[in-house]
Amino acid sequence: MVDLPPVPGRIVGLPRDERGYPVPAENAWVRGKPQLALQDFRRSGALWAAARCAICGLALGNDGPYRLFSDDEVAPTLKVGACTRLDGPGHRECMLFSGAACPFFVSPASRRSQDHYEVSKGTKRGTRASLIGFERVLLAVEQEPPHRVSFNYQGVVENLSFELGKDLTPQLSTGEPPTGVASIRMYWKTEPEIKRAWNRTLEQARRQGIATHPGR
Ligand SMILES: [Zn+2]
Repeated sequence: MVDLPPVPGRIVGLPRDERGYPVPAENAWVRGKPQLALQDFRRSGALWAAARCAICGLALGNDGPYRLFSDDEVAPTLKVGACTRLDGPGHRECMLFSGAACPFFVSPASRRSQDHYEVSKGTKRGTRASLIGFERVLLAVEQEPPHRVSFNYQGVVENLSFELGKDLTPQLSTGEPPTGVASIRMYWKTEPEIKRAWNRTLEQARRQGIATHPGR
């Protein structure tokens, strides 16, 4: 089994893949198997519309929104203090853990093992990666099916640059899993479950006016 850095309390209860990696709430499941290299825009959209973390699926509260950035994404984001991404934000603590554990983020030589939205398979992470925190994130849902989503990250509040995943480990601590209301996780392992949740999110987007934009 994989040797993991300290696992934060919010992540302890996540399902694991066959190697022992926790499977984030934003990741796809295909025929009962988690796909750690494949994120699902429906899951990302449903999580953020409900103010949930993309990694642990728990309420975001005040510990976010954050996301990890590979080398070539950092400078353009810092220059304008904003960016548009196809993956959703999460807790600082959960993104720290991802930076310390995710095979793509732990080393400058790492490459994407599968196409990742607009980034092709084989793309290098690059010399330095960053954990970046933002003031706010806006969700945009395309009007036409399949209603893809994008996230507009605005106002950089923290930029934590790192070379190796293990550079982040000292900031991680194991903790007790949350209890009570704070332990209610949004997480879907089957297609019918995520389809229902996604349809509810689209209804909410229409009703509450979550920003929508025409398809690309
Ligand atoms: Zn989280």
